[in-house]
Amino acid sequence: MTDYDSAKIAALHRELHSHLPSDPALRVKVLESLLVDKGMIDRKTIDSWVEVYAEEIGPKRGAHVVAKAWTDPAFKERLMADAPSAIEELGYLGVATGHLNVVENTDDVHNLVVCTLCSCYPFSVLGIAPNWYKTAAYRSRAVRDPRGVLDEFGVELADDVEVRVWDSTAELRYLVLPQRPAGTDDMGEADLAKLVSRNSMIGTDRDLAKYINGAD
Ligand code: FE
Repeated sequence: MTDYDSAKIAALHRELHSHLPSDPALRVKVLESLLVDKGMIDRKTIDSWVEVYAEEIGPKRGAHVVAKAWTDPAFKERLMADAPSAIEELGYLGVATGHLNVVENTDDVHNLVVCTLCSCYPFSVLGIAPNWYKTAAYRSRAVRDPRGVLDEFGVELADDVEVRVWDSTAELRYLVLPQRPAGTDDMGEADLAKLVSRNSMIGTDRDLAKYINGAD
């Protein structure tokens, strides 16, 4: 009789499953295959859109906007007053539907962006939203316990720093303008843009000095 080692079989089962895409990823694949089969979409078009949002738009456009605001006070003023038209000056059109508001971090204020209802995100400047942004845990805790969430992202805030949480909608999205780190006076716009992390423009990163010298 063949030996049946249930623990071994269970381990093998888990191992095989660990190589499968997640449930949402499988569902998306099925939908994509159906739409392709019916001739409603073209796979190459999907791939190129994903590439554009992952590699070209996000988060490079946002980082460019931030670095420009750091180096050009007049641009920053226009950005704070009317972000979509200021961003359009940089040649980036289509700031999604609805309005985009830029909120500025200072020594005394830290801004955190969330969409409590679903996952509204300024994808026209930040590209594809990170998975954690869409999770129920982030969406609820960012409002209930923003300091706890920030702590988990490694953002240490002094008690006297005010945390402002901005709840996005399809009509109103937010982009955080992080603080320019000290010691960057001699850096130009292109190098400054490399210090601007995606998370800093959502508010789950704050001190960008750690990226100077490509340390992180
Ligand atoms: Fe949403």
